[in-house]
Amino acid sequence: MHNWAGNVEFEAARVHRPRTVEEVGRLVAGAEQVKVLGSGHSFNRVADTRGDLLVLDDLPRGVEVSADRRSVTVTGSIRYAELARELQARGLALANLASLPHISVAGSCATGTHGSGNGLQSLASAVTALRLVTSDGEPLTVDREKDQDRFAGSVVALGALGAVVGLTLAVEPAFEVAQWVYDDVPLDRIAARFDEVFGAAYSVSAFTDWGGDTASVWVKRRTDREGGAHLGARWMDGRLADGPRHPVPGLCPVHCTAQLGLAGPWHERLPHFRPDFTPSVGEELQSELLLPREAAPAAVAAMRGLGPRITPLLLTSEIRTVAADELWLSPAHGRDCVAVHCTWRPAFEAVRQAIALIERELLPLGARPHWGKLFALAPEAVGALHQRGEDFRRLMTELDPRGAFRNDFVAAAFPRP
Ligand SMILES: Cc1cc2nc3c(=O)[nH]c(=O)nc-3n(C[C@H](O)[C@H](O)[C@H](O)COP(=O)(O)OP(=O)(O)OC[C@H]3O[C@@H](n4cnc5c(N)ncnc54)[C@H](O)[C@@H]3O)c2cc1C
Repeated sequence: MHNWAGNVEFEAARVHRPRTVEEVGRLVAGAEQVKVLGSGHSFNRVADTRGDLLVLDDLPRGVEVSADRRSVTVTGSIRYAELARELQARGLALANLASLPHISVAGSCATGTHGSGNGLQSLASAVTALRLVTSDGEPLTVDREKDQDRFAGSVVALGALGAVVGLTLAVEPAFEVAQWVYDDVPLDRIAARFDEVFGAAYSVSAFTDWGGDTASVWVKRRTDREGGAHLGARWMDGRLADGPRHPVPGLCPVHCTAQLGLAGPWHERLPHFRPDFTPSVGEELQSELLLPREAAPAAVAAMRGLGPRITPLLLTSEIRTVAADELWLSPAHGRDCVAVHCTWRPAFEAVRQAIALIERELLPLGARPHWGKLFALAPEAVGALHQRGEDFRRLMTELDPRGAFRNDFVAAAFPRP
């Protein structure tokens, strides 16, 4: 059994597919080492265990809207694609989505997964309550209002506190988005007018391979707030694309959500990829660093400097923005971020060296790696980049005193106090 990318073979001794929360409780309580697998889209061993791996896809599916229609309670294993369809059918929406809707809600929140938007926080920030099964097999609810500090440590938690069997998420009335791509926007422009470029729409992403002087900028505007018009035939010295684009130049855009300004529901525009097609490329590796937003021009300059050494290995690279949150292990904890993502050709050793080169340039600018992607830095050094790491270690000891959910990845990042 392996992850989506095929670069991680899980070491679990046993795999279980419980059908009820009670069964989850029995399995967890009886396991020496245990971990829950979401949709397996992480590129490292964050979801692995040597003991019992639980797949929660067979738990009863639920999407319960609150009476005030401001929140929805869902099964942890639900994928964003399924949840989004259910919400849209009820006239509701999430504020944001990642580049693909194929990923599970619990797994995405556990690693701090994000989309793009100057004002949009990581997906985990939509969580208002979590329903866990902790290592004693008992249920525990952690609520944003009632358990403020513990809650901030429990949402982006690398699956280390318990099995997430349910989540409550903030929702809002459904909205529409129109998406355009601008080709050949000079990287000089993007660096010099970063806030203006990324502030031009509800969600903005820039794709480049750092081999040239330009990027293609994907602009997603909320029609209810920003109107249904594009930003002009020319914008930031780039040109409005004359056809649909794929983030990887030359690949068929049929895998991508509708562009060319065709307004449509939030969940069919905010992700770049459609749920019924392979997202991204398929044969690939990914890494990503999140830096304080003000470091964006320096980060762009550093990546351009590395171009000759990294471009041959890159399928594409994406620049996004993420708003600050309060979640302890979120890479965007306490600071608005620029995120520099790389989609690599599947050449593991060469890619590891390229990631190390990027880290050497971007870590001094305040970068923290994405928990679900590859990094070259030692895990304990990644843990140390999180100011609330000590608090998280204490929380792990409190909620999981026997360390059942503490796999090698988590133990290396956050050694026992
Ligand atoms: C093609 C592709 C595109 C991507 N695009 C983006 C993007 O746009 N933005 C971004 O930020 N990331 C992106 N990612 C990374 C991805 O979002 C993260 O790796 C995310 O964690 C994947 O969710 P998952 O359900 O597959 O989690 P898994 O990889 O299955 O698990 C991740 C962690 O969550 C834990 N976990 C999962 N479910 C539970 C549960 N029910 N209870 C307790 N713990 C649980 C696991 O134990 C593990 O620690 C992308 C990945 C791929 C492959």
